[in-house]
Amino acid sequence: MAARFKLGSYETVRDDPLGRSHVGFFPRMTEEEAWDAGRGVWRMSAGKAAREKFALIVGEGVVRAVGQVTGFAVHGDRIELQGHVLGEGHPVRDAYLGKPDPVGTGSQNPVGYCDLPEEKQFILSPCHCGCGLDTDRDFLPGHDVRAMQARVRQHFGGSPLKFIQWVDDQLAGPAPKEEGQEQ
Ligand SMILES: [Zn+2]
Repeated sequence: MAARFKLGSYETVRDDPLGRSHVGFFPRMTEEEAWDAGRGVWRMSAGKAAREKFALIVGEGVVRAVGQVTGFAVHGDRIELQGHVLGEGHPVRDAYLGKPDPVGTGSQNPVGYCDLPEEKQFILSPCHCGCGLDTDRDFLPGHDVRAMQARVRQHFGGSPLKFIQWVDDQLAGPAPKEEGQEQ
């Protein structure tokens, strides 16, 4: 899941926790400016802030910047996202920059969430070898081989040949019966 933040109207601010002199949307803002305006400070749960990897900054219904979230800070009842703007060529940024807000526009809440198909490849999940480490793929490098070798050891007496023959037998399906007995 990614977070989406809608910029409000441009306004000057004092005592901003991020030290900014203004917040909100203004025309022709750069991606850096949109990220700086949009990375805080928001009412959102710290738990959600910790889970989001990408943030879309929306101004006037259009995505103005896509940021990668690397951390957050708490300022009273508000959250500041930390991270950086994604550059050209990043699949998440390229899919959404300049496009309409991907979150349904029914809610007035500036903070919203959405699943982005493009972010799936960047989301960490446990390595399938069972080592307990996280990876953005099915396995950490080399751990697919390790997982297969473990099965060869456990079920085929350590013989890769037996394993391969077993796989071939499984794929061939049940042996044909009564073959050659038609006469
Ligand atoms: Zn592993």
